[in-house]
Order: sequence, then structure tokens, then C-alpha cells
Amino acid sequence: NRRIKILNIPVDMVEYPAAMEIFRKLMSSAGCSQIVTPNSEIIVNATKDKELKEIIEQADLVIPDGIGLVYASRIMGMPLSERVTGIDFLSSILEYLEETGQSVFFLGSKPGDGGAPGIAELAAEKIKEKYTNLKIAGVHHGYFKEADEQELISKINASGADFLCAALGSPKQEKFVFTHRNQLNVKAAIGVGGSLDVWAG
Ligand code: UDP
Repeated sequence: NRRIKILNIPVDMVEYPAAMEIFRKLMSSAGCSQIVTPNSEIIVNATKDKELKEIIEQADLVIPDGIGLVYASRIMGMPLSERVTGIDFLSSILEYLEETGQSVFFLGSKPGDGGAPGIAELAAEKIKEKYTNLKIAGVHHGYFKEADEQELISKINASGADFLCAALGSPKQEKFVFTHRNQLNVKAAIGVGGSLDVWAG
């Protein structure tokens, strides 16, 4: 089986193109699939955070992010020969969405000051330059109150997005997706940490 445990937290020992193969299946299965990309720090956090542990256990795809987990996989006797990083995986996902004409919603990072574009808007512009045919259904910053979450879910659903990138940091992004996955109309959602900041430059 592809799923092993590191510190009693499940991780899928998948490399390209197996990870993308699973991803494509999730995009055509019913309901909102959850993809998590834990690095070593998140795995350690999950040993102390029961809710985060359960979320990872129930995730449809757990991509180990980072060289630390490649070493861990070797110790486990199921070595990963290559690193599937969260950011590389995200690039492959965006390419796939572009090729298949599916749309993405970017949620997270700081809003702009006084009407200026926020990080998510800036990242979306940069992403659009690279993936010129990618449909960006919408963007929203990541500093919302719990009381505003229903409105946000409605906005994501109204955008018609097929896929959600939640860049809220961990464990906020994993908990947000897990809490709302039954209400979300996207086919899958992933937590991408600080990726929008990286894209925005
Ligand atoms: N972030 C957010 N809402 C929050 C807290 C953080 O949108 O309530 C964003 C933050 O602006 C950053 C991203 O989450 O773009 C990742 O934050 P951090 O670097 O702390 O997390 P990591 O990448 O280490 O998971």
C-alpha cells in the first residue's frame, strides 16, 4: 500500500506521476476531496493536535512535502527516491486545470491596504502570466472571521470553481477545508501554506 505512517501519522508514499494519477481520479469522484501536503513540522504538530491528525487520516491524498520526509521514508524502509514538494505539486495541478479547462479559486494571504490588491490578487496575476489559459474563478484574502465563513463558502461556490487552493497556513487551512468540505462544491481542495506569497513575489 502507498500509505505508511511517520510518527503514527499517515503519509502516501507517492511520486510523480502516481500523485497526479490519484489527483485526476479525485477530480472526477463525487464530493470535495481533501489533499494535504504535510512537511516534517506539520507531522510533528499532528502528533500533538488530535484534530489535525484526524484530518490527515481522513485526507484523500497526503503528499509528503520536503526532504525530511524523504529521509523518514528511507528509515521506514519505503524510500521515496524523489521529493514531491507541495509547490511542485501545485504547479502540476495548475497545468492540469489549465489543460482541462477547469477553474481555480485562490483563498488566503494578506489583503491589500486601502483598496490596493492583496497578495492573492497579485499571485493570481503572476500565475495567469505563466498559465495563460488557466481560468481563475475568484480570489479572497485569508484574514476572515469565523462569522464570515458562510459568506465566504457561498462566494467560492458561486464562483463555480472546480478546485480550491487554501493558503491560510497550517493547521488553519487543513481545518478550514475539513470543516467545510461537505458544503463546498469544488471537486478538491489543497492547503498550500505560503505559496501565494511566493507567487506574488
Ligand atoms: N494566513 C492567512 N490567514 C491567517 C494566517 C495566515 O491567510 O489567518 C496566510 C499568511 O498570510 C501566509 C500563509 O497563510 O500567506 C502561510 O502562513 P505561514 O507562513 O505562517 O504558514 P506556513 O507556510 O508555514 O504553513
